Amino acid sequence: MSTRTAPALKKPPTPVGLGSAVQYLRGAGPYLGGVLQGLGVETVQDLLFHLPLRYEDRRQATPIGLLRGGEDALVLARISAAAVSFTGKRRTLRVAIEDASGSLLLRFFHFNEQQRGAMLVGRWLRAYGAVRGGAGGMEMVHPEYRVAERAEDLPTEARLTPIYPLTAGLSQAKLRSLIEQALELAGHDRNLLSGLPGLPLPDTLSALKLIHRPEADSDARLLMAVQHPAQGRLVREELLAHQLCMRLLRRQLKTRPAPLLPALDQAHAALQAVLPFRLTGAQRRVVGEIAKDLVQPRPMLRLVQGDVGSGKTVVAAVALLAAARAGYQAALMAPTELLAEQHAVNLAAWLEPLGLRVAFLAGKLKKSQKDAALAAIASGAVAVVVGTHAMFQQSVAFAKLALVVVDEQHRFGVQQRLALRDKGPAGLSPHQLIMSATPIPRTLAQTLYADLDVSVIDELPPGRTPITTVALANERRPELTARIGEACRHGKQVYWVCTLIEDSDELEAQAAETTAAQLRAALPDLHIGLVHGRMKPAEKEAQMAAFKASQTQLLVATTVIEVGVDVPNASIMVIENAERLGLAQLHQLRGRVGRGAVESQCVLLYQPPLGQLGRARLDTLRRTTDGFEIAQKDLELRGPGELLGRRQTGVIGLRLADPQRDAPLIPELQQLADQWLDSKPELARLLIRRWVGDVEKYAQV
Ligand code: ADP
Ligand code: MG
Repeated sequence: MSTRTAPALKKPPTPVGLGSAVQYLRGAGPYLGGVLQGLGVETVQDLLFHLPLRYEDRRQATPIGLLRGGEDALVLARISAAAVSFTGKRRTLRVAIEDASGSLLLRFFHFNEQQRGAMLVGRWLRAYGAVRGGAGGMEMVHPEYRVAERAEDLPTEARLTPIYPLTAGLSQAKLRSLIEQALELAGHDRNLLSGLPGLPLPDTLSALKLIHRPEADSDARLLMAVQHPAQGRLVREELLAHQLCMRLLRRQLKTRPAPLLPALDQAHAALQAVLPFRLTGAQRRVVGEIAKDLVQPRPMLRLVQGDVGSGKTVVAAVALLAAARAGYQAALMAPTELLAEQHAVNLAAWLEPLGLRVAFLAGKLKKSQKDAALAAIASGAVAVVVGTHAMFQQSVAFAKLALVVVDEQHRFGVQQRLALRDKGPAGLSPHQLIMSATPIPRTLAQTLYADLDVSVIDELPPGRTPITTVALANERRPELTARIGEACRHGKQVYWVCTLIEDSDELEAQAAETTAAQLRAALPDLHIGLVHGRMKPAEKEAQMAAFKASQTQLLVATTVIEVGVDVPNASIMVIENAERLGLAQLHQLRGRVGRGAVESQCVLLYQPPLGQLGRARLDTLRRTTDGFEIAQKDLELRGPGELLGRRQTGVIGLRLADPQRDAPLIPELQQLADQWLDSKPELARLLIRRWVGDVEKYAQV
């Protein structure tokens, strides 16, 4: 459990209402308030708009004979047999349950003696889980379950069970009870009841009630299929709010004056003189597009999309150089310190020969060093500053900031872009260049980045040899380890990536430590490095530097290396638990190899048996390395009904809307957004506040 310092509980200033902080709800308090803040929930109203990810239907048990593979189901039956079996070293608890229509096998790999002891023949068992067709009939692996002597002690649920996005320290039950209170408080809120012109019924409050606690059976079916009018209403509201926000941002920024940055061509030529390679045609085209923006007296708002390895950094470097040569400052923000450091090193190598100072705002700086850096930034003595997004959030005052480059920062949304507005000198707004390797199909990019102009680098630098990708079952690890050892002895460098499905740095770090220890034992003659998110920044950097300098041949890593890390000599990548990762993430990881001239390999380790989805993912990766094709496939696999994908569409923080499924709604909502901004600014503000957050901090509608 994390340690949070709880602020003293103060009495709420007024009776608790929708605008109050969540901590004032019954059973909440400052600690839970802090936990909820991690989910973006600050006020009681935010809680109302914290919507279920999906529903589970535990209202009725399905007769075993009617179960179908691939579905989630609730079953209620008597235990007819239970035993522990061994496959190799692995223990499995197998429990057969039986009703009049058939029997079902439950399998558990993790269980304790108490759980095992409870599985007595004749007892009743209620289980909820995914049904699949096994060798000997239908089965469930690790269902949620309860055991009792009598069936009456295992009642079914009265309503559909909403499943909410959670975070550590919060349970479904707790969240549900808080949302219940929020719904009560919402009962008479005028804003939630009033119709919004141009949006279909039901009104917001009715839609929320229905979605949080569906009562009728007819509603349940529609909700599960994401086809209920209440969902349709909220999807439109949410998309409209995002459109409003993005259009507003664009409008606002485009009315601001911006510094003129001419001479991008000259900057390009100067840089070319120190670069060991020539820019590709696609890179030159994008430099040209940026050049046109920078001679306008309005801030650039441009997204550069380019697959991993397409060479976005050098394009940014041209713009940074032009800004510096025009007498201004430029900043580059990266999502992790590791990546920021790498950028700082690369940019220094390119720009310092041209007489520029590059400053790196690292977390590891001593206070005195940091103060000196900040002073140099404030006085204008350094031209180019590199750091993480977090570091820029603290009060870094630039003397004359003219350009901000944001690299691979998918959380860098509308609000952050708005906040940059006032960072320029003398009323000027800096230009913004956003770089992304997230391969979003073009049609979708238009929806997600409605406020940005888009450039695409659709060509890889020459001389890259394609990556060969193979999938390998876990049991072939010893053989793989031996082959990796051989490759290292022949001068190759290897990443070995440990991944976990849970979003836990700590567990991931443990897994990486274990793997590193095993590999060191199996390959004692090699130098094996280790890097994970739990290390101090200095340790991480030392590990990366050693790998880059070929002092270590094998680097065991967690997904901290996912974005941007560039070690061209590394040519082999092993990814553990590959079947459980999303395609986009696998593609990003794989992009760490295939950067040099040697032929590269990617080994996807998986735990058999492979599910359908896992198989489809691994097949896609084996077949293609084209990021856009992979993205398209990713969306297809997740499918429109797959609401779980929502969290991944969190690129812009959508909760209910799915940019793929709901793309057809966009044109009409875009029009509506413009109408509202012109004639109904009050409504626009209300809706933005509801769905996006406290935009008033940044924008006067
Ligand atoms: P990404 O688009 O993934 O950010 P990078 O900017 O990290 O890609 O570039 C990947 C690698 O390709 C780097 O080592 C970079 O120096 C190199 N590179 C970039 N452009 C070219 C080019 N035109 N020719 C050869 N190598 C290039
Ligand atoms: Mg990059």
